Amino acid sequence: MAEVYNWQLGRKMEYPYEGAHPERQFAFVFNINRCIGCQTCTMACKSTWTFSRGQEHMWWNNVETKPYGGYPHFWDQKILALLEKANPDGQIWAPRKRSDTAPYGVFEGKTVFEAVSSGQNPEGDIPVETSSRVLGYLPADNEWDAPNIYEDTPRHPAEQNQRWGGQGASLPTHSTWFFHLQRICNHCTYPGCLAACPRQAIYKRPEDGVVLIDQSRCRGYRKCVEACPYKKSIYRGTTRTSEKCVACYPRLEGKDSVVTPDGMPIETRCMSACVGKIRMQGLVKIAKDGTWAKDPDNPIYYMVNEEKIALPLYPQFGTEPNGFYIPPRWVPIPYLHQMFGPGAEAAFEAFVCPSRRMLGLLQLFRATRTIIFRFKVIEGHKISESEVTLPGGKKKKLETFNDTVIGYDAKDREVVQLTVEESVYERSKEHYNSI
Ligand code: SF4
Ligand code: SF4
Ligand code: SF4
Repeated sequence: MAEVYNWQLGRKMEYPYEGAHPERQFAFVFNINRCIGCQTCTMACKSTWTFSRGQEHMWWNNVETKPYGGYPHFWDQKILALLEKANPDGQIWAPRKRSDTAPYGVFEGKTVFEAVSSGQNPEGDIPVETSSRVLGYLPADNEWDAPNIYEDTPRHPAEQNQRWGGQGASLPTHSTWFFHLQRICNHCTYPGCLAACPRQAIYKRPEDGVVLIDQSRCRGYRKCVEACPYKKSIYRGTTRTSEKCVACYPRLEGKDSVVTPDGMPIETRCMSACVGKIRMQGLVKIAKDGTWAKDPDNPIYYMVNEEKIALPLYPQFGTEPNGFYIPPRWVPIPYLHQMFGPGAEAAFEAFVCPSRRMLGLLQLFRATRTIIFRFKVIEGHKISESEVTLPGGKKKKLETFNDTVIGYDAKDREVVQLTVEESVYERSKEHYNSI
């Protein structure tokens, strides 16, 4: 095994291949707080990429309800249970070891790669088929059924699942809760799928870090399905190959002649269809050592590295996913810790009490289909002042300003301009209720 640096773990880790890094990386931020679970994103992907025979069970984009929902069923509970067995002392973080190169501290447990290389082969009640390179399992066929199982089913503190507990409305965290988790392939920096493929059919594109399966090389061994901890590589029986999200790469390349006539990179189908405006997609510059090159005016870089408002999903898996989430504000912090790592509390605070620049940037989510490479905030007048309650009961003052935010495309041309306060147009009395 080679040694590579995983900045999300704050340390070097073992990986079957030497690190090879793209110039730019496809990355995205999903604001969980805004998702209404409408599945428009899911259908946008389905109707573009997976509408053919043999793909009926395939949802490259899916939205599941946590804590119980999952596609395939209980995917994260199963892989977490395997990882727990490989880490008998727990999946431990040392958040005090935070630094510029370790923004969440240091993960001191074993990743899905290290659990196998160290000779661990956990066995138990979950059927395990551990690839020689990556800890994982192959879901049974029926686990891909009912992709939205447990839809809108809340967690109640008295474990009276699936029924209303009669309480729930007290911030900062509710005692009865659920949330929607939007999932696509994370186009990981160290993909589990790529590491496990015995045919070397999976590759990461040098220009944008998109992870693809070469259909002509794939023989359908399903090692990628077993090894992807997020279960985002899926087997197709009619072609006997595996398939996965392709990040809508013609749109990224600006080569979709219908929607990208001027050759500008635009957002993927699932991003640009999002009704709740929860999604922002970008391309971040990658330094030679694989870390993100400093670029604080890039929206994704700013949210992940400067504000630390958006966090990777299960960073302890070790694949360095390039999808990031603004955690839901009503969910107990310990649950968020296990799902997003030790940065959850700070991300929560950055969201409920955002800086002026962050509040401006939040307006740009889904404001344009063109990918925004740079943003700028111009200060406006103060519009309100309030107090917010943080976990633990701490109070913090929140001032809101009517700032203007501008987004620029790949050629640094202005493509969108908005203010924090939405403009209101008042109809004249003669035209009330008229069209
Ligand atoms: S999410 Fe899974 S399928 Fe996608 S790149 Fe990472 S390991 Fe591969
Ligand atoms: S990026 Fe494109 S291929 Fe991937 S889930 Fe979204 S719509 Fe589907
Ligand atoms: S379209 Fe947007 S709001 Fe609707 S389910 Fe998908 S991510 Fe959530």
